[in-house]
Amino acid sequence: MASLSPSGEGYGGSLRYLTPLIRERGHTLPRPSGVIEHYRDFLPVSENTPIVTLGEGDTPLVKSRQIGPALGCKALYFKLEGCNPTGSFKDRGMCMAVAKAIEAGRERIICASTGNTSASAAAYGAKYGLQTFVLVPAGEIALGKIAQAMAYGARILAVNGSFDDALTTVRGLVEILDIELVNSVNPFRIQGQKTGAFEIVDELGDAPDILSIPVGNAGNITAYWMGFKEYKAAGRSKKLPHMMGFQAAGASPIVQDRIIERPETVATAIRIGNPASWKRAVAARDESGGRIEAVTDEQIIAAYLKLAREEGLFFEPASAASVAGLMRLPELGVDLTGKTIVCILTGTGLKDPGTAEKRAFVKMELVEPDMESVMALIGAPRRK
Ligand SMILES: *Cc1c(COP(=O)(O)O)cnc(C)c1O
Repeated sequence: MASLSPSGEGYGGSLRYLTPLIRERGHTLPRPSGVIEHYRDFLPVSENTPIVTLGEGDTPLVKSRQIGPALGCKALYFKLEGCNPTGSFKDRGMCMAVAKAIEAGRERIICASTGNTSASAAAYGAKYGLQTFVLVPAGEIALGKIAQAMAYGARILAVNGSFDDALTTVRGLVEILDIELVNSVNPFRIQGQKTGAFEIVDELGDAPDILSIPVGNAGNITAYWMGFKEYKAAGRSKKLPHMMGFQAAGASPIVQDRIIERPETVATAIRIGNPASWKRAVAARDESGGRIEAVTDEQIIAAYLKLAREEGLFFEPASAASVAGLMRLPELGVDLTGKTIVCILTGTGLKDPGTAEKRAFVKMELVEPDMESVMALIGAPRRK
């Protein structure tokens, strides 16, 4: 069971005085269920807002053993957002968006998606009895993600166009239909997602020097920056991080400062040519003294395999973009020595098994099911 921050925060402070007592008796504290309950003091919720949760948030912050030391930083941590209930950070925002949709009396939700938003919407929609519609670009969604939407029972509309086309369509639809839009243009999504920044500060005791994050529709970099600023304003941290965002080279509208009509990248979750939160991502970069840079698919795949093989972390290509980008920063003139860095690993590698199969270049070795044959392949010395 994940432990609570040492101060016992996360109960709105109400149980804080009990913490030492409970510790002393050797009991573990009950875990707050989900981000709405945990961080309700920082979220736009009232008594009328239902606590919608699948147990999202409270994800591990794991210290790097290879990549961080090689970069010479003080400490590099990976935030494992793939440990959320549907396997990506989208759940942090989706619980808020769905809670507010229910509060507003809606019975239907809709989103455009490169995959993870649809998986998340479909899961929360299923639990809370909302009819869920997802518009996805036909043929461009990673297998694991579409499998989720199918299993959760969403209506899947595969559009003959890009993610950006699908988003334009749903934005128009919700103007005329009684249906809630749960893309990150929904402000409650960003509100929920900012809790990722809170967790980092609660765990490290302050903000890191650098936050490294992939950028697609740019909602998450917007949310983290909002979270860090709000926590600092509330006196929970002393500093703010430099926000380092990374786009895939073939889908890098912010870096190139122009809309990309046909974005292309192996990292399907960030295959976006016209990000909805474009301006806010630029603001996060500029206010924080950060950078938004591009990484090639080759760099993304190299980081994807490095993460898996040197850190034991299997995350999807879009997540690896933040690692690929971090590794590029020294050559771009950013000094990482002595820095505390957090890298957001946004979605589990199981979402996209096809990429591992194609890019890991590992062949299964056929062998007869007897000891002699297997021993010949293993080549280990005999026990002494
Ligand atoms: C959605 C998503 C992103 C991109 O986040 P934005 O908020 O769209 O910038 C990156 N990685 C994964 C795994 C995602 O699901």
